[in-house]
Amino acid sequence: MATCAVNRVLHVVRVGKSAQKLWGARSIWHISHLPETHQMLQKTVRDFAEAELKPNAAKYDKEGEFPMEQIKKMGELGLLSIDTPEEYGGTGLDCLAYCIALEEIARGCASIATMMSVHSSLYLNPIIKFGREDQKIQFAQPFTSGEQVGCFALTEPGNGSDAGAASTTATAKGDTYVLNGSKAFISNSAEGRGVIVFATTDKKKKHKGISAFLVPKPIDGLTVGKKEDKLGIRASSTCQLIFEDCVVPKENILGEPGMGFKIAMIALDGGRIGIASQALGIAQAALDCAVDYATKRSAFGAPIVKLQAIQAKLADMTTRLEGARLLTWRAAMLKDNNLPFTKEAAMAKLAASEAATFCAHTAIQVLGGMGFIADMPAERHYRDARITEIYEGTSEIMRLVIALNLVKEYGY
Ligand SMILES: Cc1cc2nc3c(=O)[nH]c(=O)nc-3n(C[C@H](O)[C@H](O)[C@H](O)COP(=O)(O)OP(=O)(O)OC[C@H]3O[C@@H](n4cnc5c(N)ncnc54)[C@H](O)[C@@H]3O)c2cc1C
Repeated sequence: MATCAVNRVLHVVRVGKSAQKLWGARSIWHISHLPETHQMLQKTVRDFAEAELKPNAAKYDKEGEFPMEQIKKMGELGLLSIDTPEEYGGTGLDCLAYCIALEEIARGCASIATMMSVHSSLYLNPIIKFGREDQKIQFAQPFTSGEQVGCFALTEPGNGSDAGAASTTATAKGDTYVLNGSKAFISNSAEGRGVIVFATTDKKKKHKGISAFLVPKPIDGLTVGKKEDKLGIRASSTCQLIFEDCVVPKENILGEPGMGFKIAMIALDGGRIGIASQALGIAQAALDCAVDYATKRSAFGAPIVKLQAIQAKLADMTTRLEGARLLTWRAAMLKDNNLPFTKEAAMAKLAASEAATFCAHTAIQVLGGMGFIADMPAERHYRDARITEIYEGTSEIMRLVIALNLVKEYGY
């Protein structure tokens, strides 16, 4: 797909985006019911992923290398800042457009989808939502073109799900804060040039003592630890970040002091819609692979797709996938219409991540022995799918969030 063609489509999408508030109230249960602009975006990103990502995904996985050249191309196409306002260099579309594009990227390469989702949902979005004008210009604008990527550093070696227990400290000293502590499993951290770091100014205040800091990288006092060797999404970098007397100006606080935990939770609500979209892309790729193989592989004198046992597997895969896609699009549309979406984002992530692991597992069964062999993509989808049930809130935490909100709706 030529760059100019994609830019043309994104221009048309921008022109058509004024329709977005209208279709919030409409029933959308299939891509063909979306505005033409979103359909065009899907086709454009699908063509890009088919041409650029799918043929290289196995190589990126094997080498464990972050493919910066593809990130730059995606930046040029406006795919790294889909829902960032145009005034800060973004594409200026909505969350649903972001979901549609992210699913297509994940269908081509799940590792690149991790990079895109952390960069967009967890780095750019909170800066745009909570940042001052000068912070948006310094920390968001240069990150829209694909030249630089951003990170979100919440998890620590001692706490993940229990994020309010952060023990990285921020000590006020004159016009600065001094950061000390370690962050664990931080995506994009090897290459990232900007990090939102969550640190406590007063551990006794628990989550109310946490603030969010905008930290440029490299910076004195910040070391990137070893790159983790992972089961899946192997081309995405995951490292520790170690802060040792890292000095940042006081003006680098994002939002108000003590607001960090709230900022993290709001960012993660949006991030879960992104991870749901990534999971949909992995599930779709597994289904594509299973259908293709089932129509070509013969057993007992006929293609295996004629066997009811195989048909039942394909039916279950597509049913779970399409159900999860509807939940994901609904959560995105609620966000686009400024309606509450915490429960719906958790439901989307739970359903889509479990659909992804189910579809990837079942695809291997459809392929038989070839499903287990690295020449076929099924085993990579199986490894890549697993993380979607863990990061940005595990499935256990998603069930907790859904149940708490549900009970609240009942008035308890
Ligand atoms: C590849 C990768 C990339 C990541 N990228 C980032 C990143 O960019 N930024 C970042 O900040 N973090 C990142 N993370 C961290 C990730 O979000 C956490 O690993 C995740 O939230 C789980 O936290 P934990 O690993 O500490 O597990 P724990 O919180 O220790 O949980 C262990 C088990 O206990 C269960 N559990 C915990 N609490 C409860 C509860 N209250 N009720 C029921 N069950 C519970 C969990 O569901 C899980 O099964 C990444 C992790 C990985 C593996």
